[in-house]
Amino acid sequence: MRHDHLITSKQLSRADIETVLDRAAEIADDPAAVADRHANAVLGLLFFEPSTRTKMSFETAMKRLGGSVVDMGSVESSSVKKGETLADTVRVIEGYADALVLRHPKQGAAAMASEFVDVPLLNAGDGAGHHPTQTMLDLYTIRENAGLDDLTIGIMGDLKYGRTVHSLAYALTNFDTHQHFISPESLQLPREVVYDLHQQDDTQIREHEALESVLSSLDVLYVTRIQRERFPDENEYQKVAGEYQIDLETLEEASDDLTIMHPLPRVDEIAPEIDETEHAAYFEQAHNGVPVRMALLDLLLAGGESDE
Ligand code: ASP
Repeated sequence: MRHDHLITSKQLSRADIETVLDRAAEIADDPAAVADRHANAVLGLLFFEPSTRTKMSFETAMKRLGGSVVDMGSVESSSVKKGETLADTVRVIEGYADALVLRHPKQGAAAMASEFVDVPLLNAGDGAGHHPTQTMLDLYTIRENAGLDDLTIGIMGDLKYGRTVHSLAYALTNFDTHQHFISPESLQLPREVVYDLHQQDDTQIREHEALESVLSSLDVLYVTRIQRERFPDENEYQKVAGEYQIDLETLEEASDDLTIMHPLPRVDEIAPEIDETEHAAYFEQAHNGVPVRMALLDLLLAGGESDE
């Protein structure tokens, strides 16, 4: 993989994705082999929005490669509070770290910030834009459970504001996939994303308001949270909150092999009774964040060259 920064999954080829997933699988099989691989490396964490999984799994990943992290901390406790610009913040922290991870509420923030730094910058979520490292662990989980070619996937929930959805949809165009998008009309996939997906040869896409019409054909159902924090108007959120919940009854028509995923956190989209079924892959998905982010960091810190 030869990229300086990872900003969106649009920049990734099939070969790039396979390189990362193969490396992640090697690391998952034998984590001890890389325990000192980046012993002196420091990862800078800049999270301008809440995060549990992304931040903690990046931190775990860097430590399991032998490195360490420096964390800007919350916006409230940093110089951002004094009015420092994002450009200045990243320029300062690149002097302390060998790579940066940035989460920001504004779409486009990671692309903009990457223009000011020489160390690799990884986008850990930019508003309703993209979340490419989440996509990598999603692809890893899909590959393990269902395979990436000849895949029929349903992506359901908040397709308008859900950045994990945008990144995943683009990345899947590198494979031979049928993508079904299930949402209320007001939360459909942005039109520019639909347009881009239609341009891809190996990708068939369809949009639906009801899960029932496609459920039985799905290999994977990727459920998402309604992104309350992105709604300009709380009343608009209330109109769609609580829609598109799944429970055991919903799944009666599903294939026995259906894999259910969710980037988490869930609110009420997946009933806890599903957790104990063979369908549930969302906790495994979250755990895959560590080997996948180890692989990404390894490849980026090694300048795109693995010495294996
Ligand atoms: N954790 C994911 C994200 O940061 C999904 C979510 O928040 O609903 O986008």
